[in-house]
Amino acid sequence: MLVGVDVSSGYLSRIRTRHLVQGFFGLIVLAIGVQFSLWATAHLGGRLPAVARPAGVEGFLPISALMSLRLWVVGGGIHPVHPAALAILLAACVSSLVLPRAFCSHVCPVGTLSELLGGVGRTLLGRTWLLPRWLDIPLRSLKYLLLAFFVWATWLAMELPALEAFLDSPYNRVADVKMLLFFAEPSRLTLSVLGVLVVASVLVRDAWCRYLCPYGALVGLLGRLAPLRIERNAATCIDCRACTRACPARIAVHAAGRVENVECSGCQDCVAACPVTRCLAVRGPRRGESGLRPGLAALAVAGVFLAVLTGFRLTGHWRSSVGEAEAAARIQSIGSAEYGHPGAGGPPVSGTGARAGWAVGNPDR
Ligand code: SF4
Ligand code: SF4
Repeated sequence: MLVGVDVSSGYLSRIRTRHLVQGFFGLIVLAIGVQFSLWATAHLGGRLPAVARPAGVEGFLPISALMSLRLWVVGGGIHPVHPAALAILLAACVSSLVLPRAFCSHVCPVGTLSELLGGVGRTLLGRTWLLPRWLDIPLRSLKYLLLAFFVWATWLAMELPALEAFLDSPYNRVADVKMLLFFAEPSRLTLSVLGVLVVASVLVRDAWCRYLCPYGALVGLLGRLAPLRIERNAATCIDCRACTRACPARIAVHAAGRVENVECSGCQDCVAACPVTRCLAVRGPRRGESGLRPGLAALAVAGVFLAVLTGFRLTGHWRSSVGEAEAAARIQSIGSAEYGHPGAGGPPVSGTGARAGWAVGNPDR
């Protein structure tokens, strides 16, 4: 019976909205990358940069963000060295409390890149591969183990004074530039690891996100609390299984009522693939809801993410307390032992920016 079957209307617009959101955030990240490179390169060359340091680069400092989160949770205020790192971590968590793990499928640039690489694989090779279950399941647990390690290292194994000392340390104050140099002057090992990840993402869709990303593990677990879920209307389902075939997380959507699987990224590819109007939709917990339109759900995720960042901006917790003069001086000597990782060949976790005579004051404390 073909009543309610809708093969064309809305299909393109459904997938376009999420892709537009991904493109929007992808372009912002690209702009941040270019601007930060110009800024850092000028300082490394001893010149005055023509552009300001974009605070958004701190989105690539997740360890610093986890430490700041702990400090904030225990009432220590928002640490001023990388406040945008905390803002972005919280925005990722909050947006994934709306739609499970939606940060991965809508905002994260690595998720977008991973999806594009999977597309390259399908174009060049005609397909991507699924790992057998016996390998897939243990590999999936790797990201939770990595998350557990980082939480243990930053929340359990470290005393609070040591954590504050790390956040104030010379290393953390230039961690963004250290990261740039790490990728700009990669070791053979770094290149090999990146190469393996790229090839894996071409061959296996979402290889990084599915198996290794601790950020994805965190927002996936938080997504368990999200009120919205993909829900299937069994009464109108024609059991064509297009949803299950489209699902990058290998979830048997055709057999689910509400998708509760922790691997669901809220991408709505299943919704876009379903030929029956409103059979699959993002729905709240109440029975009988008609559900959010896919485009609206994607925009809601983007809106919540941006709202959290705006909150940080409006309350003055966006720009780093490391000013241009301090950054210039520190970057000039970034190769010295003072900027080694504290406790890993660098200075012990007690030296602070204050020792070097720079303003370290945290207005929140
Ligand atoms: S296709 Fe559907 S079930 Fe699969 S990850 Fe995306 S939203 Fe979740
Ligand atoms: S929910 Fe899945 S199986 Fe049912 S009609 Fe839609 S695509 Fe086909």
